[in-house]
Amino acid sequence: MLSGRTAVVTGSTSGIGLAIAQGLAAQGANIVLNGFGDKAEIEKLRINIELQSDVKAIYLPADLSTAEGARELISQAQEQMGSVDILVNNAGIQHTDSVEEFPVERWDAIIALNLSAVFHTSAAALPAMQAKGWGRIINIASAHGLVASVHKSAYVAAKHGVVGLSKVIALENAGKGITCNAICPGWVRTPLVEKQIEALAKANQTDIETAAKALLAEKQPSLQFVTPEQLAGAAVFLCTDSADQMTGTTLTLDGGWTAR
Ligand code: NAD
Repeated sequence: MLSGRTAVVTGSTSGIGLAIAQGLAAQGANIVLNGFGDKAEIEKLRINIELQSDVKAIYLPADLSTAEGARELISQAQEQMGSVDILVNNAGIQHTDSVEEFPVERWDAIIALNLSAVFHTSAAALPAMQAKGWGRIINIASAHGLVASVHKSAYVAAKHGVVGLSKVIALENAGKGITCNAICPGWVRTPLVEKQIEALAKANQTDIETAAKALLAEKQPSLQFVTPEQLAGAAVFLCTDSADQMTGTTLTLDGGWTAR
């Protein structure tokens, strides 16, 4: 379905981004992996994608927390793969603290990666998509792009920003074969959330699995984690012809979190 297309998935060395890269590859897209981690482990992931899906996969280690890094990722991907047809803005970080105690450098880092990088990669990728008359920009926002929680000021601000930015990109490119949407997951059990489960276990003096259940019970009525594979399915759907007219919207996979 996606053969001949190239997808850049930011933050795809782990968690949701990795599952989306694998899901798009399974549909025939060539893949640009990006993110931090152990070089040998990343090389294994890259080779597995090539072998399992018979596509080309490369790894670009750009740090997206700077404008140059984010824009460079797209220009290098275009140079090495010929085009960037699908851009999945997924890389993200978290920090929790009350507003008055939130460290300024954590605020700046979260806004830079979770919001500004989405602007920079999109700005760099759009001209070639417009020239080609086809493109997909898929931004991994969050339930926190729609509603708030305490102690997550930077994350909630950035994710609300991503939802708004997705709408603007959608409007500016409506009718040009390019869609832009945001996926809003609830809790997904990745390294990013594992840290929060560990913190909760410590605070409540419970074991990890009891803390995981407590985390779900607070927000997610299904009491089940969303899986990275389910999010990959949503990303693949956004690349189909059925989603041609779906733009500027949010796809919420959150076990009912934002329904109440
Ligand atoms: P993760 O920690 O497993 O993965 C984050 C990825 O981003 C990794 O590949 C990491 O190397 C990369 N990364 C970090 N800093 C980077 C930088 N400066 N430049 C480039 N890459 C960088 O996290 P995850 O849970 O898979 O999160 C992926 C996205 O999904 C994030 O945007 C997150 O906010 C969002 N999200 C996660 C959940 C959840 O419950 N896990 C829920 C809603 C939204």
